[in-house]
Amino acid sequence: MGGHTLPFGYVATPKRAGGSGKIMVDLREKAVLLTTIDWLLHEHLSTLSIANRLNTDRSQFPPKYGQKRYRSTVYRIFTNPACHGKLTYSGQSYEVEPLIDHATFQRIQEALHANQRRTQGHPKHDYLLRGFLKCKHCEKSLSGLYNRKQ
Ligand SMILES: [Zn+2]
Repeated sequence: MGGHTLPFGYVATPKRAGGSGKIMVDLREKAVLLTTIDWLLHEHLSTLSIANRLNTDRSQFPPKYGQKRYRSTVYRIFTNPACHGKLTYSGQSYEVEPLIDHATFQRIQEALHANQRRTQGHPKHDYLLRGFLKCKHCEKSLSGLYNRKQ
């Protein structure tokens, strides 16, 4: 959730730089996010294959800071979306347009986990799944840190 790095798909528009002071959707990143979600959920690609595919097609998927995308980059993209329209950036809370909904977030977590099981094989450790599936935002809502209407 929090931190100094914006979730993939968003761009900060600081007032001092002439912006609105809001966090806006980066349409190009949003398109990349939705494409990679499709690769994960419908083509069942692993995070490594997704990273490789992004790196192979640099004209269609230009890296933000010119870096190579790794499995961890893809993993970070998938586990930190603002699926409830809230995010924390540099100590401040922002309302943002969600790029995906909570149900999609859950499907992504399940696919990532299935992925991990396929490549590393821990068929017995089902308890890992439960911990892994939680949306941090919902978890906070449940523990009463947030007072959400729904
Ligand atoms: Zn949630």
